[in-house]
Amino acid sequence: MARYTESVCRLCRRENMKLFLKAERCFTEKCAMERRPYPPGQHGQGRHKFSEYGIQLREKQKVRRIYGVLERQFYGYYAEASRQKGITGEVMLQLLERRLDNVVYRLGFAGSRSEARTLVRHGHVTVNNKKVNVPSFQVKTGMVISVREKSRQIGRIMEALGNAEKRGVPGWLTLDAGAFTGTVQSLPQRDEIQIPIQEQLIVELYSK
Ligand code: SF4
Repeated sequence: MARYTESVCRLCRRENMKLFLKAERCFTEKCAMERRPYPPGQHGQGRHKFSEYGIQLREKQKVRRIYGVLERQFYGYYAEASRQKGITGEVMLQLLERRLDNVVYRLGFAGSRSEARTLVRHGHVTVNNKKVNVPSFQVKTGMVISVREKSRQIGRIMEALGNAEKRGVPGWLTLDAGAFTGTVQSLPQRDEIQIPIQEQLIVELYSK
């Protein structure tokens, strides 16, 4: 599978917004967006005028990078959303938000989505008491997501949980931090997915 191997902070600078890809560092003054809030490269500080297509493309790239999914998989979420009832852009965001790696991140068991993805892949996470090692697994209402008992001593997980208070847990999830367990109370609504993007632009991009 193709993998992005350069500094992820460049992605934030490219999109001109904090994408929170680097765990705790994102909340400190070491964050590259605090120090150099302009696109990388020789012409990064020059003026940029985007075409309509360019604006739509950048919006899509932001969301794709936030959730860490590849282009083909991202298009799959759009295609699935356009088949379902409801506003396509909102359904697409809901599908992304319901990914197991995102839920592990939202609950605070990991400092970033990429860390959460590794935890899931390495079998540290259970859903309804069964091990699930597929990061794209879609959670449903009522499901219980936990860190496996033998993984609860992992320093990085404990550290992430300690730091997660800064972020808080969204209203559609509840967390029992002592039991390393979270529950999906409902499916996420648009106002509970607090990322400053205009998903309608992505729908317009793909419907051309
Ligand atoms: Fe983005 Fe985090 Fe790097 Fe800041 S520290 S530029 S928010 S990945």
